[in-house]
Amino acid sequence: MIDTHAHIRMDDELKIDGLELVILSASNIEDSGVNLNLSRENDRLYPAVGIHPQDVPIEIDTAIFELEEMLIKNKQIVAVGECGMDFSRDYDLDKQTELFRGQIELAIKYDKPLIIHSRKAMDETIETLTSYKNLKGVVHCYSGGKKRISRIMNMEGEWYFGIDGNLTYEPGLQEVVLNIPKDRLVLETDSPELAPIPFKGQTNYPEYVRYVYETVSKLWKVSLEETENQIDSNARRLFQV
Ligand SMILES: [Zn+2]
Repeated sequence: MIDTHAHIRMDDELKIDGLELVILSASNIEDSGVNLNLSRENDRLYPAVGIHPQDVPIEIDTAIFELEEMLIKNKQIVAVGECGMDFSRDYDLDKQTELFRGQIELAIKYDKPLIIHSRKAMDETIETLTSYKNLKGVVHCYSGGKKRISRIMNMEGEWYFGIDGNLTYEPGLQEVVLNIPKDRLVLETDSPELAPIPFKGQTNYPEYVRYVYETVSKLWKVSLEETENQIDSNARRLFQV
């Protein structure tokens, strides 16, 4: 099993029993550095570097330059993100767009997949992404409903959908998952947020991704083993791990 999206800051958050590997997502420059350090200490942790759209730095150019320095110096980085657009709180569209485009361009230059964060901004996110060619990435914590699946699949390049612990208690999302092509689904925790049933409302840990796999196995009506084989090969293909 693979958790394709976790935020680990402290040692006690690192509960990864039964997992082959974990992709560490980053929300800012500091996080990106923490991810690099953690990945040096544990060979099951793979770092992403990136800046969240609700964490726009004062100097966008400088921050993009710092991310680029990390990409140049650390070949173990598997992705750029999380980056994207988020209109759920106050935001400056121009700055979010500039920050997002800067990271898309890094992903192209260093041939890395993108981890996309999109909240209440799916149409604008898709519009920005479609102005580039041959991108590859995951729309993390996908919330675009059934109708946008085909729009994302039709974007140039190779796109995946990341689904989290809320799958265990949201029937609407279960319906959505049944519409995602099986070879484009990856599972994640977004820990420490979004704990699945039976831990809903508590701290989430990467190893709880198991409950998301179990829910998918029931939805697909196939064994957990078959589910794991499919999902894990999707994650490995996407992140080249
Ligand atoms: Zn995240």
